[in-house]
Amino acid sequence: MTEETIFTKIIKREIPAQIVYEDEHTLAFLDIAPNSPGHTLVIPKKPFVNIFDIDQETFAQTMKTVRKIAPAVRDAVGAQGVHINSNHGEAAGQEVPHLHFHIIPRHDRGEFQFWPKIEYAPGQANEIAEKIRATLSAE
Ligand code: AMP
Repeated sequence: MTEETIFTKIIKREIPAQIVYEDEHTLAFLDIAPNSPGHTLVIPKKPFVNIFDIDQETFAQTMKTVRKIAPAVRDAVGAQGVHINSNHGEAAGQEVPHLHFHIIPRHDRGEFQFWPKIEYAPGQANEIAEKIRATLSAE
């Protein structure tokens, strides 16, 4: 769990936000600096930092709201698709330490760039996959 953040202040209505949806467990509101108009954030009300500390139940509740909100965001701005993005950890660009999903409307393929792709060195993919499998089987 995290300490007070800008998002806990939004939950408590201590600072203004364009809230578009709320239920017992989650909140959705417009990002103040959108990547595209309609860019919406979905958060759990419990202040977990990110994927590494959130429990499965709260994560599932948050994803349920993402599933509910995404089509409404898309339709509100007449988009064709959405990016659903989430940054976990400073190294991944997480700025607010309260788990959140970005829902970003997309109108056409030309308005954004994916991250560049790299190639594995020989044997590297197998080595990494083996480590992931070993970690999971040790749980
Ligand atoms: P991230 O970099 O994934 O942690 O994203 C944090 C997001 O929170 C950014 O896209 C910010 O624009 C957004 N944000 C920061 N403060 C506010 C706020 N007061 N209301 C709405 N969105 C905010």
